[in-house]
Amino acid sequence: MAMQEQTREEMPKAYNPALVEGPIYERWQRSGAFTPEIEPGKEPYSIVMPPPNLTGELHLGHAMMDTVEDVLIRWRRMQGRPALWLPGVDHAAIAVHTLIERQLAAESLTRRDIGREAFLERTWAFVNRNRERIFAQHKRLGISADWTRERFTMDPGPALAVRTIFKDLYDKGLIYRGNRLINWCPFDQSALSDLEVDHKEVNSFLWHVRYPLLNADGSDRGVGAGSGGEDTTLGSIPSALGAGSGGEDTTLGSIPSAVGAGSGGQDTTLGSIPSAVGAGSGGQDTTLGSIDFITIATTRPETIVADTAIAVHPEDPRYKALLAAGVRARVPVIGRKIPIIADEAVEPEFGAGALKVTPGHDPTDFEIGERHSLPTISAIALDGTMNGEAGPYAGLDRFAARDAIVADLKAQGLLVKEEPHTHSVGHCDRCGTIVEPLMSEQWFVAMTRVYGDGRNGPRSLAGDALKAVIEGWAAPDGTRKQIKMVPERHTRVYQNWLEHIRDWCISRQLWWGHRIPVWYCDACGRMTVAIADPTHCEHCGSGQIRQDEDTLDTWFSSALWPFSTLGWPEDTRDLRYFYPTSVMETGYDIIFLWVARMIMMGIFALDQVPFEWVYFHGTVRDDNGERMSKSKGNGVDPEALIERYGSDALRFKLITAGGTGNDQRLEEPRIEAARNFANKLWNASRFVLSYLEPGQRIPAIDPAARASLPAEDRWILSRLDRAVENAGRLMERFELGEAGREMHEFVWDEYCDWYLEIAKVRLRSGEEPSPLPVLVHVLDTALRLLHPYMPYVTEEIWSGSGDLRSHLEDEQRAQLMTAPFPRPTGAPADADAERELSLVLEIVRAVRNLRRERNIDAGRWIEAYVASDAPLSRHTAAIEALARVRPLHLIANAADAPSDSVASAVLEGATVVLPLAGLVDTGAERANLEKQRDEAQQQVESLERQLGNEAFTSRAPEKVVAEARERLEAARSRLSAVEARRAELG
Ligand SMILES: [Zn+2]
Ligand SMILES: [Zn+2]
Repeated sequence: MAMQEQTREEMPKAYNPALVEGPIYERWQRSGAFTPEIEPGKEPYSIVMPPPNLTGELHLGHAMMDTVEDVLIRWRRMQGRPALWLPGVDHAAIAVHTLIERQLAAESLTRRDIGREAFLERTWAFVNRNRERIFAQHKRLGISADWTRERFTMDPGPALAVRTIFKDLYDKGLIYRGNRLINWCPFDQSALSDLEVDHKEVNSFLWHVRYPLLNADGSDRGVGAGSGGEDTTLGSIPSALGAGSGGEDTTLGSIPSAVGAGSGGQDTTLGSIPSAVGAGSGGQDTTLGSIDFITIATTRPETIVADTAIAVHPEDPRYKALLAAGVRARVPVIGRKIPIIADEAVEPEFGAGALKVTPGHDPTDFEIGERHSLPTISAIALDGTMNGEAGPYAGLDRFAARDAIVADLKAQGLLVKEEPHTHSVGHCDRCGTIVEPLMSEQWFVAMTRVYGDGRNGPRSLAGDALKAVIEGWAAPDGTRKQIKMVPERHTRVYQNWLEHIRDWCISRQLWWGHRIPVWYCDACGRMTVAIADPTHCEHCGSGQIRQDEDTLDTWFSSALWPFSTLGWPEDTRDLRYFYPTSVMETGYDIIFLWVARMIMMGIFALDQVPFEWVYFHGTVRDDNGERMSKSKGNGVDPEALIERYGSDALRFKLITAGGTGNDQRLEEPRIEAARNFANKLWNASRFVLSYLEPGQRIPAIDPAARASLPAEDRWILSRLDRAVENAGRLMERFELGEAGREMHEFVWDEYCDWYLEIAKVRLRSGEEPSPLPVLVHVLDTALRLLHPYMPYVTEEIWSGSGDLRSHLEDEQRAQLMTAPFPRPTGAPADADAERELSLVLEIVRAVRNLRRERNIDAGRWIEAYVASDAPLSRHTAAIEALARVRPLHLIANAADAPSDSVASAVLEGATVVLPLAGLVDTGAERANLEKQRDEAQQQVESLERQLGNEAFTSRAPEKVVAEARERLEAARSRLSAVEARRAELG
């Protein structure tokens, strides 16, 4: 007994995560077990951690990511695979840039005031401070990442990777510079990719604006000579185009040919147009049977000044004649003359079926413009104000210009109506400013351009990325790997995006980030693209070269992450051994921003997929199902939860709540329940360990001797086999949550609540064989199973204050994190033991239920009869202890049990009878039961009457009748139950 006391003193009574977690993490890290060895004979397992942004704290999304990845890595490491988890951080160009600019603004400075160099100095200082903080937060979750390989996207290695791949893409014609329509943030003064634009519903207006149609002489049809217009022959239009042009027509230089095609010089009179158009465009637009205006609805009147055409559907009967006639229109408020063109993209059903085409400020219009060779006018400057193209509105902010233009339209009678309208508007996902589509000289990656042929067919970035997921990708060594996504539904989303992909705008007008490795020559005007900073122009040798001022989209360097972190472009041992990586685990919201681009770049750079599996974890929402965010104030700090419940509890809740890849809610009570689970495991372990003397080694279970063990030992070993088997199978399928729930059920219910309690009886009686070997073996296996999920508490029991390892025969390992993960024994389920024990458990549960129903004090010992022909005599002591029954009479025949004043339960394989005399007030109980019987009786009669009524059963809805039948069934069975219990009382 003295020995037992000693063990108990070493293992504290309660598990205190706050005291345990720090020192254990230190020990793990010191042991070097986070850093895998390269062992060529073994299959590696590798995960490259999605690098969190340097901007701030980790949130619950990171905690989720850390947990999933750590479970996978610890599990594979325990299986003996060299497991690499490579951590890192992202420089988060635009996010960090915005943050530093805000700091400057607080000092009444801008980045241009202090200059590029000082700005970058400040940024680096901020970055270095935050980098440490982020890693400290990761570590609190217990993650077993290899900190010796930690990377930062701005480190020299990844930087070299960026320049190398940029040059290679450029040389292959896949990176180009072009004047294209891009998303522009006037606040951040930078281009954004489509994916950095947040589309939000905004309440605004739809303005219906009249565009006057022109006579051949360039005058408005609605005024002056308008009524006579129908007789104009179209032969005169081409000349009118030339003559009528003011200054604005210089930009329209390409129009005449576009229009000429339609006009064809036929003598179509406009007299045939009116009736066809009048119907659709609203009566007010027609005068004297002739149409003078086309009404167009717009949400952005400020862009009217940049319109270069009106588009209608080629088959729209309202406009066919107009098109054939080559009639032109005048842009309101600015007066520019524009053609009316036919384009299939116009939906005739929408409004009047006519669109204003503004290629300089709208992506769809830009495409229409390209198809019809329309000129592109940029009327909005980079700072969001109107420029010289906007004529009288030049210098106004874009939204002030909107108001001014609407006012002028009204004054000129060209505004038909102003209609409240809710529509989707793009906002900068960093600063919230409304994004402006603008023409700008930017760098792009060509997504669909074919650049060569290979083993896998014609190559393009998007095509290859699609192939790798849909068909699989053959690597240079001939192996074929198909990237699989979990949950599988994301594959379709991925495919759809790649099939409709546009070129990727990669230049950003920011200072923080990878500067574009392109130098412009002042002497010859040509470009030099280089990996190392050049000193001379490669074309003319001039030293007068300037590097491009812009930086690359953050996601450009992130796209290289699976291989830039392993040493690419150098041919390193790490790269050869750990690439392709095993799993990419990340949030589904960055499937396009990141996952798709990693696949493109991985295949481009290495001709191999970057990973075989993509696991998308769900989001953690608040208890109302809302996304958590700092701005909404509903974010919860994972560190606060760790302080309250311990890291294991938070991990276990995150991974076991909800299905694979589904969103979940915070649900703090479930974190508390997970903490209780850790405590339960701790208490069970303390109990087992209290029976072990220091230095006492318990022999392993000999599989050959299993058959001779008592039934409850065979039962728990059989259940353990099943738990190990199920957990392993589920984990292989990435069903980590379900695997965790299986482990929980086994440990809590079967081991702690049943086996341990039964074993206690044997331990106290000192009977042989002792259950200790089984108790210790199952505990050891359970700790190994649970370790990836709850690393701290399991390690503390195994190698910390619990020191279970010192009691295991032949156990040499110093810590659980490197002990082998349990493998299925392959033994068939022990059906006899399972049947026998399940009956014992049923009997105990039945007694407990009867006691609860009759309000018999749980601590009180009562007499019981169990009638069964099963071999229960071995379990008498256990049933007595667990059900608190004494004496327990095992009888062969239920008829031999007392029948007066008893409570009984009939089970499959046994009948339980509890004599109630002296336990309950039989008089009161009898009265109570009689009252219940009368109530049930009345209900039965009333329902029988209702259902016996032909009028009810034939007229009432089927569902109502069915419900009444169900209620009758329930009332009848309640009645017979009450009658049976009444009979028991005698
Ligand atoms: Zn912005
Ligand atoms: Zn040159």
